[in-house]
Amino acid sequence: MHPETLALHATRMADANAGAVTPALYLSTTFEREGDGSFAHGYIYARNGNPNRDLLEQALAALEGGFAGLAFSSGQAATMTLLLALRPGDHVVIPNDAYYGTPALLEELFHPWGLTYTRADLTNLDEVRQSIHENTRLIWIETPSNPLLKVADIEAIAGLAREAGAWCVCDNTWATPVLQRPLDLGCDVVMHSTTKYIGGHSDVLSGALIFREDGELYQRVRRLQTIGGAIAAPFDCWMLLRGLKTMTTRVRAQSENAGKIAQALAQHPGIEVVHYPGLESHSGHAVARRQMALFGAMLSIQVKGGQAEALAFTSRLKLVTRATSLGGVETLIEHRASVEGPTTATPPNLLRISVGLEHPDDLIGDFRQALDS
Ligand SMILES: *Cc1c(COP(=O)(O)O)cnc(C)c1O
Repeated sequence: MHPETLALHATRMADANAGAVTPALYLSTTFEREGDGSFAHGYIYARNGNPNRDLLEQALAALEGGFAGLAFSSGQAATMTLLLALRPGDHVVIPNDAYYGTPALLEELFHPWGLTYTRADLTNLDEVRQSIHENTRLIWIETPSNPLLKVADIEAIAGLAREAGAWCVCDNTWATPVLQRPLDLGCDVVMHSTTKYIGGHSDVLSGALIFREDGELYQRVRRLQTIGGAIAAPFDCWMLLRGLKTMTTRVRAQSENAGKIAQALAQHPGIEVVHYPGLESHSGHAVARRQMALFGAMLSIQVKGGQAEALAFTSRLKLVTRATSLGGVETLIEHRASVEGPTTATPPNLLRISVGLEHPDDLIGDFRQALDS
């Protein structure tokens, strides 16, 4: 089945009560037991399972081509729960360019707890190879990466992980299963901040993990989800299922808009560089072309004139909103270095843009007027 059809089909819930076309919302925290002590519908208590969460987890698994999914209260909760499945003494390889919360978890929570980690440039396979130690249990991929849009070769890195006996995880938040399916390329787990494109409307905070197969890792993380309790709430699952229905169309249209904006900005004399994998000048263009259906709706620009001019430029924008986050239907721009704090390696003149569903000509017009004035 094509993803458009799957996104609609996999988000339906049979409703024997009313024949409702859209899923009912189950807010109950507890479920009735039969006289013999069994649970006729399989539900006991909402931390263990809930019909809206089950449906979301199954839909995400179907879209990523996985065995099962697990939904969490945020992307960070998903990452944290996955890392809790490792043991003190294990080692993790993570990208040197990544969503800043991933290394923050490793440094502030898991390093004191006993994990060690190495940050590597995932676009350099030799460097990845050299970062793998005897106790490496997990390699974390994020591609395209945040905020520099670096493109990692998923299939090659998943191969290195397999040789080393380590699990390979891909943060697929930016690409979504519409553009990239890491499980098909050999990854064991896909992670999502479903807050972004899957919700799609900047109104749900949530995360997910999708597993390629049943096994030790899935069983352990599923157990940690239940006992740790960082689960996605029923209404959030309901909202995400609604978001999923339009995800394929949104992501394609937003990616097309981003491509047009990247081209236009790359030609503007006020711009030092545009980081967008769809540009032929981008170092990851060939790999992106191979593993992505389209190049995504995220891009970063470096503005001539340093941080002061970058910030002044954002203040002259009229249609584009200055805010963090991404993946919603509205275009957002953000000065990443300010968000990431004094330890950041992000260039001070870098602005990250999450391209929305406005008409691309209106957006290009707004960027041009802000650059030219
Ligand atoms: C937002 C984001 C996260 C973290 O997700 P939250 O839902 O904010 O906890 C992780 N990875 C990437 C790539 C993100 O964009």
